[in-house]
Formats: sequence, structure tokens, C-alpha cells
Amino acid sequence: MSFDRAARLRTRPDDLAALERDPRSVVVPLWRNRNLVAHGRPARAALLTLAALGELADGCERVLLGLLAGRGCFALDLAPADATPSHPRLAEAGAFSDLRMVGGLLPAEDAGLCAYARAITHWHRHHRHCGTCGAATRSAEAGHVRVCGGCERRHFPRTDPCVMVLVTRGDRCVLARQPAFPPGMYSVLAGFVEPGETLEEAAAREVREEVGLGVTDLAYLRSQPWPFPASLMIGFAARTEEEALTPDAGELEDARWLSRDELRRGAVVLPPPYSLANHLVTRFLEDIP
Ligand SMILES: [Zn+2]
Repeated sequence: MSFDRAARLRTRPDDLAALERDPRSVVVPLWRNRNLVAHGRPARAALLTLAALGELADGCERVLLGLLAGRGCFALDLAPADATPSHPRLAEAGAFSDLRMVGGLLPAEDAGLCAYARAITHWHRHHRHCGTCGAATRSAEAGHVRVCGGCERRHFPRTDPCVMVLVTRGDRCVLARQPAFPPGMYSVLAGFVEPGETLEEAAAREVREEVGLGVTDLAYLRSQPWPFPASLMIGFAARTEEEALTPDAGELEDARWLSRDELRRGAVVLPPPYSLANHLVTRFLEDIP
């Protein structure tokens, strides 16, 4: 299904009102950071109409996500509504599920829509007050801006860039383990970009800080929104001529070199298949230059 963010509509009140009245418009419901998912085969994002939700939608934060196959598509944060998950309309449609757990079961376009809705409703919940003067903010431009009632400052949704680097030397790559990971899981080195840094500087710094290696041939591969709560993962490959790993004890439990053969034999548990980290390792296994 085609999806258009339709940013032009955010500043057209008449068009917005028409979309809100249109019985064909759909909502992507959220409740306490969970997305409504119809657990069929395959699982799908459960979409409802505003009319179907009735008064349950009153007073809930609403954001225009865009046009889905030409129909208005809104995120609706049901957090203020009491006993929401048991409402018959919602229970019929699906179950509120953690996208981190079910993202891999959804078609890519459904996972993308759920991620968008989750990230922007999370931003609204955590930006109720102005960071400059402390007064209450209000939603504007179909939910894509919050305006301060005190100083009129405009606040925009934020995305936190995070670099992820697969470091290789010949037939081996470096994977590391954080204490909070599930048992046996190792992943690609990663860290947040700091103010004033390029992505390349952040990638080289993270590798140096986390395992003590210097890298060359940094190359951007691809990115992935990671709305837990507001990251954008930016994937790189890099090479090193160094061997000794010195894991940062404050952040990592272990770091190790793994050969393609060891990875194929399941020497460690990898992150879930839909994650960028998994993609980077799989790409290395397939020896894509
Ligand atoms: Zn203010």
C-alpha cells in the first residue's frame, strides 16, 4: 500500500478537518507505547476508523501520519483512556504488543507505520513542557510541532542518531556483548553520535572506546529507524589491522573476534533478523564487498 507523509496537509486546517471527518480515514492506535497488532499469519498492523473508536478517541493525542493508499492515516495515543485494551472494538481488532517483540513478524510497511506512530506519540508524551521557559506546550500542525504557551517557542520531534559499526579483519569480525543482552547474544558495536561530531568521527570513536581498535575504510551501508524510543541506527562497515581487543568494562561484558565459520555454526546468538545489526552480520557472511 502506498504511503505518503503528505507534509503539505499539516498546515491546511480545512483539509485536516475533512480528513478527520472522512469515514474512510484510519487510525494506528497506541496504548502505553504498544501498537495494536492483528496476530494472524502474517501479523498485520491493526487499523481502525475514528468512527469505530467513537468517544474512546476523545481527548487523545492525534497525529496525522500521512495518506495511506489515499486515505487519511492518524496515530492515536489512547494512553489517557481508562481500560482501553478491553474495549470491544480494540479487542476484536488485535492485541496491544511491544513493537520490539513483534516488529519482525510484520510486513516491512506495517512495521514502518507502527514505528512512526510509536516514535511520534512517545515524543508528544515527553514534551508536554517547554525546555526554555517551563510552560505547557500544545500540539500544532497536525501533531508535528509543539508550541510553548509561555514563550511561543516551537519544538519539533527529535531523532537521536546512533552509529553501528561492523569491524572486520580478513575472515573475522568483532561482536560484543552488553550485560543487558539476552543469554548468548552478541551484537555489532554501537553508540550515540555526540554534539559536534560527524557520523564518521562517531563511528571511529565508538570502536576505539568500546574495544580499543583503530579503523580504516569506514563505509556507510544503510540505516534503520529504531523508535525505542527515538533512535536512528546508521550502519557502517570498517576494517582494522589491529588484533587486541580491550572491551570497555563500563559498557561491555565481552568482545570477541568471530570467523564466518563460527558465526555460521551458531557460536553466538545474533540480534533479531529484522535488526540492522543482523543485516550487517549477514552481509559479512555473504561476503558482500
Ligand atoms: Zn517556552
